[in-house]
Amino acid sequence: MDMQLRNYTEEAVSLYLDRWFKEADCCHCDLCRMNVTALMLNSLKPKYVVTDKGALYAQLDDFDPQHKIDFMTLMTKSVATVSQNPRH
Ligand SMILES: [Zn+2]
Repeated sequence: MDMQLRNYTEEAVSLYLDRWFKEADCCHCDLCRMNVTALMLNSLKPKYVVTDKGALYAQLDDFDPQHKIDFMTLMTKSVATVSQNPRH
């Protein structure tokens, strides 16, 4: 069986960061990215789904444009927080 229990929110955040984190105005190292990811996930509700491996990424493109705006706002806020308190 190739089904998995996944947190859709975590996958979505990870995918968005793959696309846009490099354009954020901050340090782009893995530690800062992880800190931004943690802050974002703490402000979002987890959404668990049972899915086929690989099916999740296809669904992410169907995101509502409003979700993208919300995500970008949250990313900007989280990046600002991490930049003000760098852990390294
Ligand atoms: Zn860094």
